[in-house]
Amino acid sequence: MTGRDRTVLIVEDNEDNRIVYSTILRHHGFRVSEALDGEEGMAKALRELPDLILMDISIPLIDGWEVTQRLKHEHATSHIPVIALTAHAMPGDRERAMEVGCDGYLAKPCEPRAVLAEVNRLINRARPVAPGDA
Ligand code: MN
Repeated sequence: MTGRDRTVLIVEDNEDNRIVYSTILRHHGFRVSEALDGEEGMAKALRELPDLILMDISIPLIDGWEVTQRLKHEHATSHIPVIALTAHAMPGDRERAMEVGCDGYLAKPCEPRAVLAEVNRLINRARPVAPGDA
């Protein structure tokens, strides 16, 4: 168990992918929250302040680039690591991911273990700055 009750928000419109990612994350001790489009993803991120967000880029209403950029400009959510998931990766996607503030980037189809490894790599890194922290 590596999750220790950390919460990962999965923003993904494809049900099969949501099941695959949430299953492996729950198996490793993470709490999982799910959103099916950009508006729900934005709302849940702000309300639930997850420890990490898995962000499909191709989602309805507001795309994953835009949602990430907005969350990175919000004080409450700017510290939350975001892993972008892109299908049909285009040249320049990785650069775009970094531009909008994504912390990690995976091209679909991605192995569940690769997703887990990236979550574990990033989730221990970023923490909200507590008052009095140097
Ligand atoms: Mn999608």
